[in-house]
Amino acid sequence: MNWAMNWPMNGIVGIFLVLFAAKWLVENGLLWLNLAHVRRAGASVPPALAGRIEPEAAAKSARYTLARGRFGFLRGLFGAALALVLLFSGVMPWLDRVLSGGGGPLPPLDGIPLSAVFLIVLGAASSLAGLPFALYGTFVIEERFGFNRQTARGWIADRLKGLAVAAVLGLPLLWGVLAFMAHAGRWWWLWVFAFVTAYQLALVWIVPTWIAPLFNKFSPLADLELKERLETLAKRAGFRTRGLYTMDASRRTGHSNAYFTGLGRTKRIVLFDTMLDRLTHDQTLSVLAHEIGHYRLRHIARRLALGVGTTLVMLYVLSLLERWPALYAAFGFAGPSHHALLALVALGGGAFTFYLSPLAAWYSRRHEYEADAYAVELARMPGALKSALVEFSDQNLSNLNPHPWYSAYYYSHPALPQRLAAIDGAAVHLPPVQGAGES
Ligand SMILES: [Zn+2]
Repeated sequence: MNWAMNWPMNGIVGIFLVLFAAKWLVENGLLWLNLAHVRRAGASVPPALAGRIEPEAAAKSARYTLARGRFGFLRGLFGAALALVLLFSGVMPWLDRVLSGGGGPLPPLDGIPLSAVFLIVLGAASSLAGLPFALYGTFVIEERFGFNRQTARGWIADRLKGLAVAAVLGLPLLWGVLAFMAHAGRWWWLWVFAFVTAYQLALVWIVPTWIAPLFNKFSPLADLELKERLETLAKRAGFRTRGLYTMDASRRTGHSNAYFTGLGRTKRIVLFDTMLDRLTHDQTLSVLAHEIGHYRLRHIARRLALGVGTTLVMLYVLSLLERWPALYAAFGFAGPSHHALLALVALGGGAFTFYLSPLAAWYSRRHEYEADAYAVELARMPGALKSALVEFSDQNLSNLNPHPWYSAYYYSHPALPQRLAAIDGAAVHLPPVQGAGES
């Protein structure tokens, strides 16, 4: 067979390989730029943070960024190699034949059971292959920088629980998707869309109350003085919360955060205990005001809507690819099948969607700026908000000197110097302080 005869198949493989290589180059080019930038900056503190962060802390965060960057490079290399092996070694068509032919204890499979077992085997193999990296990340890198608080036993227990949750929540989802693909006719992608969206909404509803407590302990905020101040602030913002909780994040990690979760009646605000240990009441208050900002400015609703829209577009693209026999042949499959389609998209889709990351990151950063401005307006303590952000950065060893291209491409939050400057800008519009209670 000559190349011209195989044009559609070879063309698909060729275009895919070019995009795959381009993604790898862009990814590692940005990583290299960033690490070189950090190495050059060393222990230097950006002017905007002078006096707020000690040079020793800056040096430590540079070491942390470099260690994670090198590790990320190796993990990326492994991930890319694994994807290429799975796509081009013929192992997927082989698995397809084995499962549909039966053998050993397994009866011959077809239809939805064949698709489900194929995808589960593939998914399990990929996560097993990634396990050493997860172990190294937690017990070598996080450990070395004093973040890890977990024992090997706790880590294994976490993985097993995660697996059980994935099985209970993931299998019905997978089965439902495959069933709609198989039986809903031409418009299956709209049915799958409705099903997946309803499923996601249900998850947003049940995760805070049923799933998250399997992994962490959530307790109502115990500090009554702080609780009262937080509730007064929330009320002033017209924000009805179903609860302020602290989460025992410290059992796993020294990293610090606060987040907002749930919908309607399960809506709640969660503060990491690692954060409460380090922040003053004023600082915690301004962080909460930022989180309320995300809600009041409809960031959460908009992000949800964006996710739903993305799902719809992806399913439509999937429905177009489904009816393209050359795609299956290009990767060695005997014929079209839903599991081959889903596996190919899962393994190769990143080469196409990777270029959307800077857009998503930019959108997210815009929301962070808006929520900061809202927090300044609501809590009227720009100084406390700024020092809280510095504290977070310090505690998490965030990179103080990211390369501007790297942060533009990936950062979901603005880099600290720009963020502090924007808060100063928002504080200019504040009316003069009234009364003695606010400072
Ligand atoms: Zn935020």
